[in-house]
Amino acid sequence: MVIEKDRVVTIDYELKGADGEVLDSSREAEPLVYIHGAENIISGLERRLIGKKAGDEISCVVPAAEAYGERDEKLVFDVSKSDFGEGTEVEVGMQFYAQGPSGAQLVTVLELEGDKVKLDANHPLAGEELHFAVKVVDVREATAEELEHGHVHQACGCGCDDSEDCSDEGCGCSGGDCGCGH
Ligand code: ZN
Repeated sequence: MVIEKDRVVTIDYELKGADGEVLDSSREAEPLVYIHGAENIISGLERRLIGKKAGDEISCVVPAAEAYGERDEKLVFDVSKSDFGEGTEVEVGMQFYAQGPSGAQLVTVLELEGDKVKLDANHPLAGEELHFAVKVVDVREATAEELEHGHVHQACGCGCDDSEDCSDEGCGCSGGDCGCGH
């Protein structure tokens, strides 16, 4: 089965920046499982995976425009340290979520100068060219429920197929309820 829209894809991946630094990797963690075509992953990588099947490996370079976008210097702005509230420790490099016009946004503290705090609301990987090494592990059809929710419902690892009657203690089975509130 090849990768196309509305299929659930499992990949192992390593992501490096243009300078070769490893930015993210599934090697030390779980493989990434996503629904193709549901905007679960960046469009530039998704497009390059179309037509691939389990066992295929690809290396690709995704320009910033197809990844997290170019940096926008208008998203760099100053606030007053007092805006953080009494007793809040503010440090360069600190990241937090702030409410922006398009919902919660990750903001990074760039500089501290006296009472002035320079913030950057660009995505941490904005402006970065991304170098991916990807191995396709599995491709399957998404269920109707997964497509409705727009995210993957992981099968229970104990082999019970995430059914309601799983009795394997501690298997992490959600008993058929994905818990996403839908
Ligand atoms: Zn769900």
